[in-house]
Amino acid sequence: MKKIQMVDLSEQYKAIKSSVDKAIMDVVSSAQFINGPDVKSFQQELATYLGVKHVITCANGTDALQISMMGLGLKPGDEVITPSYTYIATTEVIGLLGLKPVFVDCEPDTFNISVSAIEKAITSKTKAIVPVHLYGQACDMQPIMQIAKKHNLFVIEDNAQAIGCDYSMNGTLMKTGTIGNVGCTSFFPSKNLGCYGDGGAICTNDDDLAIQLRMIANHGQSKRYYHDRVGCNSRLDSIQAAVLRIKLKELDRYILRRNTAADFYDAAFENIEQLTIPYRANNTNHVFHQYTLKLSDEINRDDLVAYLAQKDIPAMIYYPVPAHKQKMFYDIDNKCGNLENTNWLTSRVFSLPMHTELSIEQQQYIVESVIEFINK
Ligand SMILES: *Cc1c(COP(=O)(O)O)cnc(C)c1O
Repeated sequence: MKKIQMVDLSEQYKAIKSSVDKAIMDVVSSAQFINGPDVKSFQQELATYLGVKHVITCANGTDALQISMMGLGLKPGDEVITPSYTYIATTEVIGLLGLKPVFVDCEPDTFNISVSAIEKAITSKTKAIVPVHLYGQACDMQPIMQIAKKHNLFVIEDNAQAIGCDYSMNGTLMKTGTIGNVGCTSFFPSKNLGCYGDGGAICTNDDDLAIQLRMIANHGQSKRYYHDRVGCNSRLDSIQAAVLRIKLKELDRYILRRNTAADFYDAAFENIEQLTIPYRANNTNHVFHQYTLKLSDEINRDDLVAYLAQKDIPAMIYYPVPAHKQKMFYDIDNKCGNLENTNWLTSRVFSLPMHTELSIEQQQYIVESVIEFINK
């Protein structure tokens, strides 16, 4: 049996090797390393796939969030409502721009931002909400958009983990990342649509905002050497765009593979009392960026992870420390209370290997090993 990895990118590459190799070499021969034709084509192809008017590529998912917040004109002191239970990038850019993160709790079943907690956190200074579609399942966007409309707030979707996910918005299927004012994604290699280095993208249906976002990502430039506002330098390389054009065609198949693997785990674990399998909401599909289980209180998580490691099975804790408990945010007074669900989940979750190349044999071995430990 092949060594089990959290994410197996080399096996995935083998399946598309000849087209990827050719695409990369074509960029090298053309020498159009920056803003080559593949970048433009990829933006159009991704916009078509997502069903959105504008896609603006940039250097990584963190930049996508930062550029979005700059493009929406958020100013130091503005309050931004964000889940605490997320990857640090979401909340870090809020701090970086001098905005005030207002950390709210998540739902214990979906792990996603709690709609009722958002409402309670709104003040006269609130300017935006950042729903994060964690692990590959959409937040409940319909009520979130309603709240945003009622209070005149921007919605910035952090779609880094859920590209390709569908959400039923008033009965119409929409891709996550295209529902709020702006959606941000990452092409970090291990993401569901990953490139071979760093990359990111922003999407929006707002024509004026799209112009601003493009400008910000390119030194605030409106035409060559004319700079209208302070921006940054954030680009997707042509080589990465060429790789992404190929992988975008595979994305739906990748999502299916991830679901097949998730179904296998679900069937094996659903009757194990000490484990709670991922909840699947009925208004969204799950694209399983991660397969994350909840452990009951009597099981020692560290011991389980160590036991699996001994058997050459990697398991990860996403995320052991929520944002509101990170040192970088020690001076933020967390006015939304102690975030009970977030605190509990970060002590109880663990994620098993999840990728497009898992074999039944590998999954069988993982499942048996987890159950072995629980029954010890
Ligand atoms: C990966 C990720 C990001 C940041 O993406 P990078 O490309 O690594 O900068 C932001 N938010 C979430 C939820 C992520 O998982």
